[in-house]
Amino acid sequence: MIRMASVDKHFGDLHVLRDINLDVEPGQVVVVLGPSGSGKSTLCRTINRLEPIDSGTIQVDGTDLPAEGKALAGLRADVGMVFQSFNLFAHKTILENVTLAPLKVRKANKGEAEKNGLALLERVGIANQKDKYPAQLSGGQQQRAAIARALAMKPKVMLFDEPTSALDPEMVNEVLDVMTTLASEGMTMLVVTHEMGFARKAAHRVVFMSDGEIVEDAKPEAFFSSPTSDRAKDFLGKIL
Ligand code: ATP
Ligand code: MG
Repeated sequence: MIRMASVDKHFGDLHVLRDINLDVEPGQVVVVLGPSGSGKSTLCRTINRLEPIDSGTIQVDGTDLPAEGKALAGLRADVGMVFQSFNLFAHKTILENVTLAPLKVRKANKGEAEKNGLALLERVGIANQKDKYPAQLSGGQQQRAAIARALAMKPKVMLFDEPTSALDPEMVNEVLDVMTTLASEGMTMLVVTHEMGFARKAAHRVVFMSDGEIVEDAKPEAFFSSPTSDRAKDFLGKIL
């Protein structure tokens, strides 16, 4: 579903992605771990072309990622992304946040977009917040709204970049629960997170990055119990 082959990227002199080869099968949940600055966010951002790459190829559902133009907009719509900061539109209600892109990009009709939007808000457990503005919601509710908004475009793939890092501890689980459900429903997901419980429970694979490289790619049990590289051992020693 996601296929990255020989992907390289620099920021100036910094070699931020080094020969990345990553295949994510349909329905697979891949958790990306690694120290700060190892390139995890950049990896996510290249998958929907928020960041250009220097060389290599990236395909989503068998289609090469175009560099720009109409095709790119279509492809971006196939890739939902949820960030650490919730990035909701402050001056739109929760329901408007969720229906905006389907109305504009997918040219959905209003009634249908609202029906679908409400169903999604129901699914993430905040339908009763639909007429509020983002600032009136808790962080956990805002992040669930952000997930609903991404799902409204009916993406083929969902990317999560530290979706719970900005949340108060008591709100982390309500967001992880939504993600776990999504995973069990068969969504293809790439998730950057420090939540090891989620990685153990929901991930099919753990990819460990260090200095722009994929250093390990293993099943969670194997990665956590017997990491093979010194860099992964060192990382796990610090966080577990
Ligand atoms: P963290 O865990 O702190 O979020 P990360 O693994 O997500 O880290 P990235 O944000 O992908 O790391 O950054 C990788 C490297 O690229 C870092 O050294 C960072 O400073 C650098 N970098 C990221 N974005 C840019 C940019 N737009 N311009 C220049 N350098 C950048
Ligand atoms: Mg990051």
